[in-house]
Amino acid sequence: DIPPPEAGGVLTIDLAALRANYEEIARRVTPAACAAVVKGDGYGIGLVPAASALWQAGARTFFVALLSEARELRNLLPEAEIFVLNGLFPGTEAAYRDKRLCPVLGSVSEIERWSAFCEDTGTALPAAVHVDTGMNRLGLSATEAVNLAEGRDEIGFTLALLMSHLACADEPDHPLTARQLEDFRAIAALFPDVRASLANSAGALGDRALHFDLVRPGIAVYGGRPRKDVAPLRPVVRLELRIAQVRHVHEGETVGYGAAHTALRPSRVAILSAGYADGIPRLAGASDLRPGAEAVVAGHRCPLIGRISMDLLALDITEVPEDAVSPGDFATLLGDGLGLEDLARHSATIDYEILTSLGRRYHRRWV
Ligand code: PLP
Repeated sequence: DIPPPEAGGVLTIDLAALRANYEEIARRVTPAACAAVVKGDGYGIGLVPAASALWQAGARTFFVALLSEARELRNLLPEAEIFVLNGLFPGTEAAYRDKRLCPVLGSVSEIERWSAFCEDTGTALPAAVHVDTGMNRLGLSATEAVNLAEGRDEIGFTLALLMSHLACADEPDHPLTARQLEDFRAIAALFPDVRASLANSAGALGDRALHFDLVRPGIAVYGGRPRKDVAPLRPVVRLELRIAQVRHVHEGETVGYGAAHTALRPSRVAILSAGYADGIPRLAGASDLRPGAEAVVAGHRCPLIGRISMDLLALDITEVPEDAVSPGDFATLLGDGLGLEDLARHSATIDYEILTSLGRRYHRRWV
């Protein structure tokens, strides 16, 4: 598969690795069930290809953030159980019913609205209830959850799932995780007949006590690293950028906007055809003050230098033999030993942001 000559970058998405990662997590959490989180356009790799592959790998329960994502997913997977994490916006109730989607109700008012809608419709449609245990983002307070349990007979919908979300599971032994676990356990005990779910990737690959009935991994399935003490599973994305030009820079000259990087020796610089408009963080290149991320050219690791432009970036290829690189060749930014976290670390961000920002202009291929 030769990329078209006009492609500035090639993004290769390894769906076999995606499936293998899901299968591995599902195996590790058994007997808990394993859902798949496919929000953010399948963490940037494409909702449709990601969800199709995960369905093939055995996923039957999916989480998205928005109703629009859920609708697209429903068209693809008529039999899947689909939860919409961001809650029930007023006026969307009929769309949930018509597409058989489950809202994740994160406040008393959402619960009342879905209950009333179900009563009007005459059907106890399913929904999840989100309980806050320390994230302070979405979800009922503990008191509201207790009230819900006490008034269970008045709920007009089918309580399909009770869930909460961990704030610090990526940091092993963070004290908030133990507190969240204890609080969620107590609340789940009030709903013994309802499936419970607490764990994201970090939780799914962590202590079994976090697993409950259903885990909700995202980043680990896509090859990202969910916690410092666990190795990433198989990489799913590979990113290669086209070399537009090779230039010579004199010692003492600067490269790029803001003159942020000064060449400390006569340098050969490859200009690559992608930039922050393609999801490469603006701060990924080395400045005079700090090191940058790397790319691989002809087997050599080379630093990104200077500020990343909108559509271009610079790479110091002084160490690469001159005859080993020409305009039109590719440099590898993700792959050949460079992972998401290598790029993220030098850009003051995280795997998630790199993945979900992957550009739309790359030539995408799925293998
Ligand atoms: N559950 C909820 C409620 C989420 O918001 C997310 C993503 O942020 C996940 C699960 C998946 O998290 P991760 O990608 O860390 O596995």
